[in-house]
Amino acid sequence: YVDFNQRIDYVFKVVLIGDSAVGKSQLLARFARNEFCVESKATIGVEFQTKTLSMDNKTVKAQIWDTAGQERYRAVTSAYYRGAVGAMLVYDMTKRQSFDHMARWLEELRGHADKNIVVMLIGNKCDLESLRAVPVEDAQEFAQRENLFFMETSALEATNVETAFLTVLTEIYRVIS
Ligand code: GDP
Ligand code: MG
Repeated sequence: YVDFNQRIDYVFKVVLIGDSAVGKSQLLARFARNEFCVESKATIGVEFQTKTLSMDNKTVKAQIWDTAGQERYRAVTSAYYRGAVGAMLVYDMTKRQSFDHMARWLEELRGHADKNIVVMLIGNKCDLESLRAVPVEDAQEFAQRENLFFMETSALEATNVETAFLTVLTEIYRVIS
């Protein structure tokens, strides 16, 4: 429960990155509004949504940024990363290429963001297990090597979405407090 008259103690900016169509916007809609839009359009314009949470008797406003459909390499501007304290690096577990691109998304993130940024690798669309193209071991290995949190999610079925965001936000809180 959050009392909206209460002051905000912290604002945490978290950015979503990864190839187009991996489900970034749907993950955000699921987390911020508990919605999944079947006919989701490509995101136009930089957008963020907020969700206010209570953490350790403090009020934290999570400000989650979604890309502007600028998911090509180097198209995301540095303003997008500025001030980010967390990042969700999202691939589609049914699309190998979207996982193979994680290394360069991470490189781009590390080139722009604060070095203490909390990063979670997310394999989305885990409801499509029969179409899996990325073994969980490959993702775990990458996450371990790069020191990232890792989770498989489904924005469609709401699997692990809240857990993934809360893990990142809790870790940010732990780092800054
Ligand atoms: P974005 O370009 O990364 O923002 O991707 P979107 O959120 O627009 O999603 C791209 C497509 O994948 C849309 O057709 C979504 O309905 C679909 N999608 C997103 N998340 C999931 C998921 O968890 N499971 C399944 N099966 N489809 C998903
Ligand atoms: Mg989108």
